[in-house]
Amino acid sequence: MQSFKLGELRNIMKQIIQKILPRYQTIRQQLHRYPELRYQEVNTAKLIQQALMDMGFNPQIQIGKTGVVAVLDSGKPGKTVALRADMDALPIEEETDLDYISQNKGLMHACGHDGHVATLLGVAEVLQQLRHTFTGKVKFIFQPAEEGGAGALAMIKDGVLENPVVDAIFGYHNHPGTAVGKVLVKHGTTMYGNAEFSIQVHGKGGHAAMPEWAINPITLSALVITALQTVSDALAKDPETTVLSVTTLHSGKAKNVIPEYAIIGGTIRAPSEKATMHAQKLIEAELNKVTQGSGCTFTITYEDIYPATINTPVETDFVLKQAKLLLGENNVAIKAKSGRASEDFSYFLQKVPGCYFFIGNGEDSASCHSPHYNFNDGILPVAIELLATIAITYLQNE
Ligand SMILES: [Zn+2]
Ligand SMILES: [Zn+2]
Repeated sequence: MQSFKLGELRNIMKQIIQKILPRYQTIRQQLHRYPELRYQEVNTAKLIQQALMDMGFNPQIQIGKTGVVAVLDSGKPGKTVALRADMDALPIEEETDLDYISQNKGLMHACGHDGHVATLLGVAEVLQQLRHTFTGKVKFIFQPAEEGGAGALAMIKDGVLENPVVDAIFGYHNHPGTAVGKVLVKHGTTMYGNAEFSIQVHGKGGHAAMPEWAINPITLSALVITALQTVSDALAKDPETTVLSVTTLHSGKAKNVIPEYAIIGGTIRAPSEKATMHAQKLIEAELNKVTQGSGCTFTITYEDIYPATINTPVETDFVLKQAKLLLGENNVAIKAKSGRASEDFSYFLQKVPGCYFFIGNGEDSASCHSPHYNFNDGILPVAIELLATIAITYLQNE
């Protein structure tokens, strides 16, 4: 291993990034022009595969359906660090005036995954050029279907964390509302988990003209929904608030028929599994109270969408340290609150230690999932440098 002083290595890295930056900006805008939905990222995968092959990698494709993986082997024994970028776009009609506006009607890179992919390709090129400065291996994970398709889980099932076994994983998301290039890191829970519930209220159907012979599940559902609001208010008192929202209500087909049942659906957004279970307990207690003596019964089912994204302590401190060294104390902050959206990077963190952090997309950036959103290319040099530094330093540390 060629040994470099940190400052020297940093200068070399900066020079490489300066040189390659235009290429990855072009790739980012190319990706933006042709967004693809979860598990349909076929052309995106092809572009990634080609770019990696151009750098001399031998990428594996179709990991987790449309995912792409490349391994950079330093040729020296050591640990394996993984870096991850998500690839998919959203079913949103773009409303920007960009000259590289989406050409795939009704689809849009409205969450900046185009930028995440371009970043990781840039990091792969930097590390390829600097592979003599570290030991072990770097695994580049291009993951499909972050937007509701659990692409991370699909890749894990296809063995992405094995062969070589991943020792730690890092990834970032752009963060609208924060100055470009500023880094936000949070210990522990950084994104909430999301569990959906479905409550079936069983009554007794009958003729609308003779309600005395029926038990109307719709009127009882009104009480159930009010009771759920009480639970929601109680939970709102927690500092890391669990959020409970009722979002669907379905019952009945005819105006002259009292239906047999009603179905109430909603979502629990919580910072931990424990908090989710606490919310479930409160919901069930309220349901028991409301249905008691009413003649109605209920069944409730839950579906875990994504677990909470929980950073591990050592790797979080490590990212904080590297970010501060690289960008200065003023450009790195501890994120005050967890994000209430959920993120399937959580599945990786259930298996290996790591840290998922944020890089500012601009204070005036439209929010993610807005038709006016755009990934800020000003992130690219910062993100490429930070991720490359994280990988090298991690692999030099042992
Ligand atoms: Zn998103
Ligand atoms: Zn996203």
